[in-house]
Formats: sequence, C-alpha cells, structure tokens
Amino acid sequence: MKLIKVLAVVAMAVSLVTMAQAEDKKPAAPKGEPGKCCAKATKEGKTCSHECCVKAAKEGKNCEKCGGKNS
Ligand SMILES: [Zn+2]
Ligand SMILES: [Zn+2]
Repeated sequence: MKLIKVLAVVAMAVSLVTMAQAEDKKPAAPKGEPGKCCAKATKEGKTCSHECCVKAAKEGKNCEKCGGKNS
C-alpha cells in the first residue's frame, strides 16, 4: 500500500513543521550570554526577578551587572 507510506511521510513532515514553528514562537533570546542568575531562572522556566535584569531584558539585553554579555 503506497498510499499509507505517503500518508506516513506527510504526517511526519507536518509534525516536523509544527515542531519548528513551536521553536520559532519562543521569544528571541538576546545575543551574547545571560548572567548566571538569569541563566538559572531560564533553566527553571522563569525570568530573573532582579531589578537590573528585568530592566535589561526590557531593552532586549542581558544584564551586564550580573555577568551577562551583549556581544
Ligand atoms: Zn538576573
Ligand atoms: Zn542583573
């Protein structure tokens, strides 16, 4: 049954595209490296609550005060 093979391939392709789209929906991380506190928060699925980091994140940057890099 060729049709079943075709359907399987199409289903796989669709799931790959869906996965790729889900990847794209993540907010773009700023260039460079986040500070240790921010990296830890990100790992835990949170955002860093430091005032300096929140301010930097609003500007699309990593907090340099906390060891983040923006290049
Ligand atoms: Zn932080
Ligand atoms: Zn900070």
